[in-house]
Order: sequence, then C-alpha cells, then structure tokens
Amino acid sequence: MPSVNDIRSTFLNYFEKNDHTIVDSSPLVPRNDPTLMFVNSGMVQFKNCFTGVEKRDYVRATSAQKCVRAGGKHNDLDNVGYTARHHTFFEMLGNFSFGDYFKEDAIAFAWNLITKDFSIPAEKLTVTVYHTDDEAYNIWKKLGVPESRIIRIATSDNFWQMGDTGPCGPCTEIFYDHGAHIWGGPPGSPEEDGDRFIEIWNIVFMQNERFADGSMVDLKMQSIDTGMGLERIAALLQGSHDNYDTDMMKALIEASAHATHSDPFGDQNVHHRVIADHLRSTSFLIADGVMPSNEGRGYVLRRIMRRAMRHAHLLGAKDPVMHQLVPALVTQMGEAYPELRHGQAMIEETLKLEETRFKTTLDRGLRLLDDELSGLPEGSKLPGASAFKLYDTYGFPLDLTQDALREKGLEVDTDGFDTAMAEQKAKARAAWSGSGATADATIWFEVAEEHGVTEFLGYDTEVAEGQV
Ligand code: ATP
Ligand code: MG
Ligand code: MG
Ligand code: MG
Repeated sequence: MPSVNDIRSTFLNYFEKNDHTIVDSSPLVPRNDPTLMFVNSGMVQFKNCFTGVEKRDYVRATSAQKCVRAGGKHNDLDNVGYTARHHTFFEMLGNFSFGDYFKEDAIAFAWNLITKDFSIPAEKLTVTVYHTDDEAYNIWKKLGVPESRIIRIATSDNFWQMGDTGPCGPCTEIFYDHGAHIWGGPPGSPEEDGDRFIEIWNIVFMQNERFADGSMVDLKMQSIDTGMGLERIAALLQGSHDNYDTDMMKALIEASAHATHSDPFGDQNVHHRVIADHLRSTSFLIADGVMPSNEGRGYVLRRIMRRAMRHAHLLGAKDPVMHQLVPALVTQMGEAYPELRHGQAMIEETLKLEETRFKTTLDRGLRLLDDELSGLPEGSKLPGASAFKLYDTYGFPLDLTQDALREKGLEVDTDGFDTAMAEQKAKARAAWSGSGATADATIWFEVAEEHGVTEFLGYDTEVAEGQV
C-alpha cells in the first residue's frame, strides 16, 4: 500500500514527466498579500502568473502546497472532528499552466493519473462542471464518462475564488463514491455534505479576475490551476473514505493516544483526530514564523492551540501534551518539509509554554462551564454573560466555548456575548475618561476595539478571577 509520502512523490513525478517544473511549497503566511490570512490553496504563490504581472521561466508547474483553512473565505476549523475529509492543515497537490494548456489537457492529465496510474475504477467517479460550461461537459463525455455522472452545478462550488479578489474561474471537480453504506449524496443533492461522495480534485479554468468593487474581467491568458487534497486521495488509495485512517494521520493519532494513555480508536477517537489535525496546523504555522498572540494570524494560531488543549484535557491529560507529539510529526513529515526539523525545538517550546500557561485557567474555566450548564434549563442557550466571563477571565476564545457546547448539542447566546463585550468596553471607557488621561485613552481604545480588551487576562494565570 503506498504511503502518504509515496503518493505525494508519485503525483509530482507524474507531472514532471509531463513537462511540469516541480516547485516547492510556499510558506503558509502569504508574502505581500494582505487579502489573505493563510495560504489556502496551491495557486496562491502563482497568483501573479495568472494575471500576467509576473513571468517565470516555466509555463507548467506542479507542487505540493501546505494549506491552512482556519479563517477567512475558506474556513474548515469547525469541520474538524465532524467530517472524515476536512483538516485545518492539509497538503494540496496541484498542476498549473500559465497560458499554456487549457481545459482538454488539464482534464486528460487528471483522468489518466486517477484511472490509469492510480487504478481507480472509472465507474466510481462522478464529475461536476459549471452549469454553462458545455466545453468541459463534452470533454468528459468524450473520455467516456456517462452523462448521468456529469453534473452541472450553478453555485459558487463550481466557480472557484481564492478570496474576494484575485484570479478566478469556472471549475470542474472529480468526486469518488465511497458507497451507500456511508451517508451522503451526489454533488448538488441535499445530502452532498455527507462523506459518501468525496470531492478529490478541483480543476479550475483560470480565465477571470475579480476586483474589490465586485467587478470581474477576462484575463488575457487562459490558465489552469488544480488542487487535489493529498490526504483524501491517500485515504482512497489506502482503501478508506476517511482521511484520518491514512498511515500519516494514524501515526499522529497513536502518538496522541500514547501521550494521554488512552485508546486511539475507541470512543475517544474524536479527540485524537482533533489533536492530530491541530498538531499539524499549529506546528507548521510556528515553523513558518507565526507566534501565538491576541491579534490577527497569531490569534487564529492561539485559538487552534487552545482548542487542541481542551481535547487533551478531555482525555484526562494532566501535563502539557501537544509538544510531546512534535517528534512523531517530524518523523512523518520532516523529510518533505525540512522546516519542521529546523524549527522543531522552537515548535516544542512554543507549544509547551502556551499549554503550561493556559492549563490552570482552562481547568478552572471548564469547571465553571460545567456548573453553568448543569443549572441551565433544557433547550436554552448558554447566556452571553457566561461565555463572556469565560472569554474575559479564563481566556476562552468564543469558538472554544462553542466547540465545547456543540458536543452537547448546545449553543451560546452570541448576541448576549456581544452585548456583554460592548458593556464592558463602555464601562472601561467611562473609567478612563474620568481619569483625565484622554489622549492616551483614545489610542488605547482604538487598539482595544481592534484587538479585544482583556483577552490577555486568561493568558496570565496570576491574574485574579474577575479582575479587569
Ligand atoms: P469541500 O467541498 O470538501 O469542503 P472544497 O471545495 O472547499 O472541498 P477546494 O477549494 O476545491 O475544496 O480545494 C481543492 C481540493 O483540496 C479539494 O478537492 C480537496 O481534495 C482538498 N481540500 C479542500 N479543503 C480541504 C480540507 N479542509 N482538508 C483536506 N483537504 C481539503
Ligand atoms: Mg470546503
Ligand atoms: Mg467543494
Ligand atoms: Mg472544491
């Protein structure tokens, strides 16, 4: 059975044989691109090649790109632990043409790799095209895909955009049917979000560019951008529908089970999945220079770290866990991504420090949450004031509280949370304006509006409960 690492190589070699230049993954933090929080697809580093602003010495490229989808337009944080196919960190395998080949070759390259080199039975595959794209429809037909399995889709699912602006275009996608024993339906059906029909490959016909005012123009060149999730194709080639069953994810799940003295594949499996996923996103982000903080990218990193820590807590971990799992990650991925090896000590220290600092408030906050929930009348939401107290005093990002409640089928009163936040800001503002420090206060409030007021408090375990 090919390993995840083998499959990555097979993909890159296949396109290299077809005259593509192998290009390294770019770092997760986009260079010179304030429109994007993290690199979320293979095309990001080639964005300017599609628009013609940048020229390279190749017109065909292939890559395995590190991606994080935990914020912005593509956000899969809340899917982790709930679907078999989503990660916050994943690798996107891609091939690219910059004004070179277009639809016909792009579809043929993908089809041949999947059905011949990977020997995936064609009858298990369903494809989608953008509803007006007769050209793509006919290419699939010519390759022998029956019309019943070429689905026209009119939604944004078949019109790909990296973000609100930038190169974009209609796309065609390849899905694998894992069989009726798994819940889900074909693309475009009401059950499409299930894990039965899993999207494996998206082939984008880059021919438009969108601007901030919403307008869209035709690009001068017609280009190709494709993306296939390595973990998804690996699951398939390893005989499973579940990304977390691949050799790589299993090794991380086993490391998590070992560190927490728990069963990797029993009832606690969901916690191990979240931990394995979050281990990858946090470690790769730190390796690429992101540090936990209370703003921007650093806050997204902190939120992922804290979510992972709550799952470790639920496994009964008494000591910090995440940093203990880094060696397993380096074993799995250090060869393909040497930055993990170089950054290993720093990744471990950063994870350990954050977890040590957050541990006490996490434990106390979760006890408080349990108390609040036990007194909650059935069917009601957690009051916003309680969620705010968890945020303000215990450093629980709102999404961490929501994640904890979701397991129990409960929700937070988010309006109440916003009100509590606004009230606290107003109170703090009144206290400041009475102090005579107006000039400083103005600046302080500008910063606070932007970055949150007292999020720091949960971070510092020395601060007394309730102190503002
Ligand atoms: P889905 O509909 O399953 O959420 P998507 O349409 O959002 O996927 P694309 O933006 O088309 O995904 O990305 C191209 C490919 O990258 C997908 O076909 C899939 O194989 C893979 N992929 C996308 N998101 C994830 C994720 N969160 N985890 C793992 N693989 C992913
Ligand atoms: Mg998605
Ligand atoms: Mg999709
Ligand atoms: Mg897609």
